[in-house]
Amino acid sequence: MPPFPHRAAFSFDIEDWHHSELHREPVTRPEESIVERGTSAILDVLARHGWRSTFFVLGDVVRSHPALIRRMVAEGHELACHGMSHRPLWRATPEAFRGELREFRGAVEEVLGEFPVIGFRAPTFSIDRSNAWALDVLRAEGYRYDSSIFPMKVKMYGTPGAPVGIYRPAREDLRRHDPRGELVEFPVAIAELQGVRFPVGGGFYLRALPLWVFRSGLDFILRHRPFVLYLHPRELAPEAQRLPLDWVNGFITYVNLHTVMAKLEHLFARYQWTTMREILESEGWLAAP
Ligand SMILES: [Zn+2]
Repeated sequence: MPPFPHRAAFSFDIEDWHHSELHREPVTRPEESIVERGTSAILDVLARHGWRSTFFVLGDVVRSHPALIRRMVAEGHELACHGMSHRPLWRATPEAFRGELREFRGAVEEVLGEFPVIGFRAPTFSIDRSNAWALDVLRAEGYRYDSSIFPMKVKMYGTPGAPVGIYRPAREDLRRHDPRGELVEFPVAIAELQGVRFPVGGGFYLRALPLWVFRSGLDFILRHRPFVLYLHPRELAPEAQRLPLDWVNGFITYVNLHTVMAKLEHLFARYQWTTMREILESEGWLAAP
């Protein structure tokens, strides 16, 4: 393994196969959940490699899968918040969002008792310049870092011009770093080459790109700063139910599912991994507890 000056974080957004903004109508057989199977596969591969990871879990999943949440925490992973039911913040008010965060806290307390959750990722990366109030709500509710600002424009979301590395978003313009800002932003991995940005953080890019292309993007980033990637349980449970999507969205959602586990094994062997919280603490962005 080549030596890198930074560690990397793998994050998992724990939701079901039908929680997608690409298909908002009710689905048939939503009860055929893949959360259990997909998340267990994730926990197993992490345990095999001895890495810890950050899990952005939906409050609904905390309620429906308490045993899975207990296992996650018992194995040393970081529990973080992905909202209650996967409604993007573009369709929420500050009051509704605050209510959702409190509901999430209540759901966690029922399973684990008093338990610190300091990280948040909005469903569909839905924090941008239109709803920067969300950062105030997060701060007021005790969150210390966010991972919802996607620093380039893609099909459904994005904030072009926002920093690609860890920073403290300014309240008046979340693309700007404010050294006094209380909330830390840890955006998912974007490679930047001669001013051009390439998203490499997510499941789609991991699945669609050849491993060597993906890997050289990550090598490049890790020489300069830490990065965070993300996957979903459905990407580790390829035989699960699928949404009735048109071919473009179907491609984005399902291309190369069968390659995910092998790629994950490779990445877990190549880099040093830990939780997002630990990276933020060890790199001086958050004071250690
Ligand atoms: Zn999600």
